[in-house]
This record gives sequence, C-alpha cells and structure tokens, in this order.
Amino acid sequence: MRIVADSGRCIGAGQCVLTAPDLFDQDEDGLVVLLTGSVATEADAELARSAEHLCPAAALRVTSGTDDAEGQPGA
Ligand code: SF4
Repeated sequence: MRIVADSGRCIGAGQCVLTAPDLFDQDEDGLVVLLTGSVATEADAELARSAEHLCPAAALRVTSGTDDAEGQPGA
C-alpha cells in the first residue's frame, strides 16, 4: 500500500500529523512531508486511510499499489 501526498494541495492543517505521526510530518512551511511512501502494516494502513479522509484539502491518497507507476495511465 502506498501513500501519495500532493503538497500543492496541502494547506498545512496538520490533521495527517495528528492522526499518524509515524507516517507524516510537516516542513517548515507547514506542508505535508511523507515519512514513508509505503505502508507495511494494517494498523498503519488504517491510520493512513484515516488521515486521507480527515485531510481538509484532499491532498492525500492511499492506494493499494506498491510500485512507482501507480496511478499512471497504462501502467
Ligand atoms: S491534513 Fe492535508 S492539508 Fe493538513 S497537513 Fe496533512 S496533507 Fe496537508
């Protein structure tokens, strides 16, 4: 399972960091930073999905893919 964060959409609300501090951080501008691009455990996957749903900017996406081509047409 992979996490994709769109820092261009992020408004720095910090919900992701509050929800899953082992998966997300914020840079000095408050924008989301991924601490890991992939999620290994179901517990972390649940936290990642919670953060995805709580993010007010829809800047997070949790996918079931495992490779870098995830989400690209034709991949
Ligand atoms: S919850 Fe969304 S808007 Fe807030 S810091 Fe995380 S990615 Fe950015």
